[in-house]
Amino acid sequence: TERTLVLVKPDGVERGLIGAIIARIETKGYTVERLELLRATPEQLAAHYAEHEGKPFYPPLVEFMSEGPLVALVASGHGVIQGFRSLAGTTDPTTAAPGTIRGDLGRDWGLNVQKNLVHGSDSEESAAREIAIWFPEG
Ligand code: ATP
Repeated sequence: TERTLVLVKPDGVERGLIGAIIARIETKGYTVERLELLRATPEQLAAHYAEHEGKPFYPPLVEFMSEGPLVALVASGHGVIQGFRSLAGTTDPTTAAPGTIRGDLGRDWGLNVQKNLVHGSDSEESAAREIAIWFPEG
């Protein structure tokens, strides 16, 4: 069955939204297969965000993702990769549609990084790669 890697980013943990976010995944009908609260290592973030290295938002993004614990989870179900991205909403929480995680729970905090509460894999290839980064023990 299809799997995706979801992160509840440090802003979501700090704001006490772990439960609200996981509830949306579960009430949609997806299964939480793995779940861990952890602090990201520099190596994990470099691997996870390798495609963004060199972009202006990369340094503040890595700093933000390091500033507190995050939740990594694996969710499964047919269509879960696109389904979770649909639940999450578009990257910018200001314009993300109401009804989505980012649209309902997020906002612009006036920083040089978008604190947008969650990450979800964007393809089967990304999901496999990212699950190995956050759950290296298999
Ligand atoms: P989506 O793919 O829906 O945009 P994502 O989380 O995968 O969501 P990426 O484009 O991979 O987004 O960017 C990674 C993260 O970097 C974003 O989630 C956001 O936190 C931050 N980010 C992306 N673009 C910008 C930007 N232009 N300015 C500030 N932060 C950004």
